[in-house]
Amino acid sequence: MKIISLSLALLACGWTIAAAAQSRLVADLIITHANVWTVDDTQPRAQAVAVLGDRIIAVGSNAEVENLRGPGTKVIDAGGKLLLPGFNDAHLHFVSGGLQLDSVQLNDVTRIDEFVRRIAEQVKKTPKGEWIQGGDWDETKWPGSVLPTKELIDPVTPDNPVLLSRYDGHSSLANSAALKLAGVTAQTPDPPGGTIVRDAQGNPTGDLKDAATDLVANVIPPLSHDQVMRAAKRALEHAASVGVTSVQTMDPEYAEIAAYAELLQAGELTTRIYAAPLITQVDDQVKIGIRHAFGGPYLRIGAVKAFADGSLGSRTAYFFEPLSDQPGNRGLLSDEMQPLSRMRDRMMKADAAGLQICTHAIGDQAISMILDLYSEMVKAHGDADRRFRIEHAQHMAAKDFDRFAQLNVIASVQPYHAIDDGRWAEPRIGHERASRTYAFRTFLNHGVHLAFGTDWDVAPLNPMLGLYAAVTRATLDGKNPNGWFPEQKLTVEESVRAYTMGSAYAEFQEKEKGSITRGKLADMVILSDDILPIDPAKIRDVKVLKTIVGGKIVWDTSRKPAYSTGD
Ligand SMILES: [Zn+2]
Repeated sequence: MKIISLSLALLACGWTIAAAAQSRLVADLIITHANVWTVDDTQPRAQAVAVLGDRIIAVGSNAEVENLRGPGTKVIDAGGKLLLPGFNDAHLHFVSGGLQLDSVQLNDVTRIDEFVRRIAEQVKKTPKGEWIQGGDWDETKWPGSVLPTKELIDPVTPDNPVLLSRYDGHSSLANSAALKLAGVTAQTPDPPGGTIVRDAQGNPTGDLKDAATDLVANVIPPLSHDQVMRAAKRALEHAASVGVTSVQTMDPEYAEIAAYAELLQAGELTTRIYAAPLITQVDDQVKIGIRHAFGGPYLRIGAVKAFADGSLGSRTAYFFEPLSDQPGNRGLLSDEMQPLSRMRDRMMKADAAGLQICTHAIGDQAISMILDLYSEMVKAHGDADRRFRIEHAQHMAAKDFDRFAQLNVIASVQPYHAIDDGRWAEPRIGHERASRTYAFRTFLNHGVHLAFGTDWDVAPLNPMLGLYAAVTRATLDGKNPNGWFPEQKLTVEESVRAYTMGSAYAEFQEKEKGSITRGKLADMVILSDDILPIDPAKIRDVKVLKTIVGGKIVWDTSRKPAYSTGD
């Protein structure tokens, strides 16, 4: 707005716009003495950046940018610190992440008694009758790796139904109160795409795999408007603190999108959001007639999220060949894929309407089947700039890397999963398949677009952990200090690019963000250390000093309180 009004005023005085730009344009914000790493090949490095309104208007030397300084210009002297484009998390679950920050946290639990103790703690904070959720437990972290059962937690949860997710979201633990509310008994058959784990007598143990979780999840009352707003605000605050300026949130409830819209109107949306609701609801977006990336700079929709299979952790990722340590088990296709025509019909609708399709696919056969469907879309509806996505793309068949490139399918991957799953994946799938697992280097070699994300709340939101994971591939158990399948490591530059330009491309926004370039949105972060020359092992300790979104400082470690919605 400011540019337009200024230009009009100057035109009225008989000035040209070019003359105005050269002599009278005054920045709202300038950042000087920075080590600017632009992620823009036409000008990779700079010292300073100027911002007017929500846009970058100059990138250059300190002297060049100083020219745009006026009496009202705010100045940040970066003191030589690294300035990067803001991070864009291409795959997460934003409100779930916000909820997780205030719910029972079991991911780092390594003993069963601690598991029970933390749930008992949460019960103390929760009114009787209210559901207890959260979890992110991982049985591989405690001795014996046995799945937790309802008998374990029933004694401490007599008055609260409980449903706690495994960290990968493909298994969960329910207590007796929850199973009772859901009517799950020894007589309940396994639903398609799911398993009710049972003891020797056939009684449910409380452990539910994939679609079986829905039996219980479906009886949980929806979050109140207040709960959603609180979680969204908590998530925004956390995103700002770790330098995430854009997110692509997968399978949100419509109530979440409504919360973002409300926050946007109130001027409180400090992270840019692209939302991809479930493909099972594709008719809604088709009816409205919107297309991919519809919306404004802070909030967009126009994508759909589909599920092809489960996860490796829950042994439900769908493979061509059985798991190496479980001969009869090739995994499970999701209920959306049974029968396949169901998925095809929904995808055809989405594609015909110009919506972007993002499909969760982890096992090699699930990925292959989705690529088949994507090529059917191209045959049916002709060439277009679709930017199909496969979310996770974890275990690739050798033949499919080329197909990814040919169909211009984006590999939307989460490097942190590699150093997490790398602890136990190899015995489960064998060396040969593991060599094509989280195969980021092979994707780049084939010219495939990579977009980085975290899958928060499945993994931490902090982008430094993702960069660390992609660059080192050092598994969390410390057993692969030189990298698990080190030939798949990326450089710091490649990793930052996948987390900025790569993610921007994945949401059709590469002309608007993803690099520090004149004309783009002023989304930037100042880091405590230069991540290029340091020992890669130290990248995970690097902190975000300032986060700037649309020219506004939304996180500043030098200011108390540290978080503010504007500046
Ligand atoms: Zn996800």
